[in-house]
Amino acid sequence: MLNIIIFGAPGSGKGTQSEYLIKKYNLAHISTGDVLRAEMKNGTELGKLAEGYISRGQLVPDDVVIGMLGHVLDSKKDVAGVVFDGFPRTLPQSNALDNLLKERGEEVSVVVSLEVEDPELIDRLIKRGQQSGRSDDNLETIKSRLDVYKDQTSPLKEHYKNTGKLASVKGVGTIDEIFVLISEAVDKVK
Ligand code: ADP
Repeated sequence: MLNIIIFGAPGSGKGTQSEYLIKKYNLAHISTGDVLRAEMKNGTELGKLAEGYISRGQLVPDDVVIGMLGHVLDSKKDVAGVVFDGFPRTLPQSNALDNLLKERGEEVSVVVSLEVEDPELIDRLIKRGQQSGRSDDNLETIKSRLDVYKDQTSPLKEHYKNTGKLASVKGVGTIDEIFVLISEAVDKVK
């Protein structure tokens, strides 16, 4: 199975490139952000809990997202592979993912890290907020999400570099140009 982690700061294009990946390689897409937003929309207990963290630009606690991911993975049986979008975001989450995959006789194939500078990220997220109406795409929350990414998530790059799984890709250019680079990284591990 092809288990791809699409990694990067908020606004780096993870969601967009995930859509391209799932089509080209016939994979399932697991976006923890999408799952949490669906829970919020449905007004579930999990959604109510997540809302407070998301609207402040903080991470939802590890035990909550890890438990959620286990359930989502179970619902994606018999697939050619999975694109993990927005997960893992912390070291405990990456350990949990390794274990969840191991239990299923699987492992992470490649971690594609989309590299985009802060001013470009802020610009993209403000524009997205004007269209999506996402409550976390406003300047104040964007700034805390970028801080959280730097403090808690970007250290994972070192971890995946050490395991030889990291593929850094320039996340600036047209969507198609970036996807060519991502496909090259994926084809190497296919
Ligand atoms: P973005 O990458 O643009 O921030 P996401 O949809 O991936 O968008 O995430 C939106 C928010 O959902 C995050 O700021 C965070 O609060 C929450 N979230 C998503 N995935 C996780 C995760 N793996 N761990 C903790 N919180 C998460």
